[in-house]
Amino acid sequence: MKEKGRFGDYGGFYVPEVLIPVLEELEGAFYRFYEDEQFVAELGQLSKEYAGRPSPLYYAKRFSDYVGCRVYLKREDLLHGGAHKVNNTLGQGLLAKYMGKTKLIAETGAGQHGLATAMIGALFGMETKIFMGVTDIERQSVNVHKMKLCGAEVVDVEGGTGTLKDAINDALRYWTAHVRDTFYLFGSTCGPHPYPTIVKHFQICIGKEARRQSLEQIGRLPDMIVACVGGGSNAIGIFSGFVDDKNVRLIGVEAGGRSLSSGRHAATLVAGRVGILHGAKAYLLQDEEGQVYDTESVSAGLDYPSVGPEHCLLKDTGRAEYVAAEDEEVLDAFELLSKTEGILPALESAHALAYMMSQKGKLSSEQVAVVNLSGRGDKDVSIVEKRRPLEQ
Ligand SMILES: *Cc1c(COP(=O)(O)O)cnc(C)c1O
Repeated sequence: MKEKGRFGDYGGFYVPEVLIPVLEELEGAFYRFYEDEQFVAELGQLSKEYAGRPSPLYYAKRFSDYVGCRVYLKREDLLHGGAHKVNNTLGQGLLAKYMGKTKLIAETGAGQHGLATAMIGALFGMETKIFMGVTDIERQSVNVHKMKLCGAEVVDVEGGTGTLKDAINDALRYWTAHVRDTFYLFGSTCGPHPYPTIVKHFQICIGKEARRQSLEQIGRLPDMIVACVGGGSNAIGIFSGFVDDKNVRLIGVEAGGRSLSSGRHAATLVAGRVGILHGAKAYLLQDEEGQVYDTESVSAGLDYPSVGPEHCLLKDTGRAEYVAAEDEEVLDAFELLSKTEGILPALESAHALAYMMSQKGKLSSEQVAVVNLSGRGDKDVSIVEKRRPLEQ
């Protein structure tokens, strides 16, 4: 059983007995429907008409002039909900419907996945519960309100530090008792098998489109693909389109630096050690005693103490490179893209842009980078305003 869903030695299925039949039912349903003609047609139509796919590939000329190479943006920020998250919630929501489930549950940290799930709950008329730590509820009140407007119930999670990892624990616990009618819509390419495989499948559209658009618009493949990494879903989505093209560098950018309050590293792949969290073996942020700790970065959407198992393997094999961007560099990138292109990036996506800024002067003008602009920054304006007040 532990051999299922392996990426090298990573991933797997480390869960309590009660969850095994539940995850097996999900795995069976996924393989029954994911290539089913009707399922594929329905998902394709909703992706186009509800979510807004395909998203454009855009040549950011003025941003490129700053960096010194040609930078293209994969515009996931233009999708409904303002990020790539809708690709996954639409796919899993439809799977839930095909399985005959009538209720959705999901975990959320920053509220983005909770909101993307609440949207789909409304779309399919499913009762939706979002598990969210009390600390996050307080920090993300606007998203909490939006979820409620979409008809979802937000469940307070009091345990632990009241953040994402506690919300996942409570959602898994709730699921075991309500599995007959309830589908657990997981938010990223982590957690136990089959979630890393399912979430990747629904995000592969990013990479497929980006590859086709590169050939059409640029006339060749890019030299590098750059994406931010939280749990890893937007990055795996775009990497997967190019992973077999050995000359295309794949670069994942994590939230980095040391936390001001704890002095600990925040970048899982750059500074983590292998362990097991939420049913999967992966790199984890843990202290000397093996205690998992929360990350703290300017972008709440990258605050997850582990990372998807496939990224762990891509790191070990060297096929992808992982770097970290510090908060101040990320804020610089947020400002630069806003000023040069009139596009406010999500702070998560600004990590990938910060990497490009760090390459200023190091790349030739003919080199092409495709940056996955995973989301839009409207949600982050008040955070940026606090950290970088505008002069009058
Ligand atoms: C949630 C989120 C992320 C991080 O999640 P991944 O699974 O690593 O993609 C990145 N960007 C945006 C805009 C997000 O909302």
